[in-house]
Amino acid sequence: MSKNCLFCKIVKGEIPAAKVFESETVLGFKDINPSAPIHVLFISKTHTNDISELSIDPTALSDLFSSLTEYATTIPELKDGYRLIINKGPRGGQSVFHTHIHLLGGKQMQGF
Ligand code: AMP
Ligand code: ZN
Repeated sequence: MSKNCLFCKIVKGEIPAAKVFESETVLGFKDINPSAPIHVLFISKTHTNDISELSIDPTALSDLFSSLTEYATTIPELKDGYRLIINKGPRGGQSVFHTHIHLLGGKQMQGF
């Protein structure tokens, strides 16, 4: 856990979130400022700053991806597909420095 991290606070229940998925190691919750009809964030409960830090833990990576694909199979609006986005660092548009994957769907995604 990282003391002042927003998403660690969500994991600890100190800040509310609309949870859509939870396991021992992974949490999925709705993005507070959605960019699509379905916009959820998937995180490992263990804090890492960004995807390059998380990448050295293959088990955590695999848990994260299998959790979100499992979640997606339960949502009819995601049956025909969805988009995953990982922002890395300020230049990549990362604003919360607890590694997260955006899952966007429920509409036809276009370009970038
Ligand atoms: P990024 O810009 O990739 O770091 O994404 C951070 C995302 O976190 C943004 O899409 C925000 O809308 C979202 N966000 C920020 N605060 C919260 C919160 N308290 N609950 C849910 N999502 C949040
Ligand atoms: Zn954190």
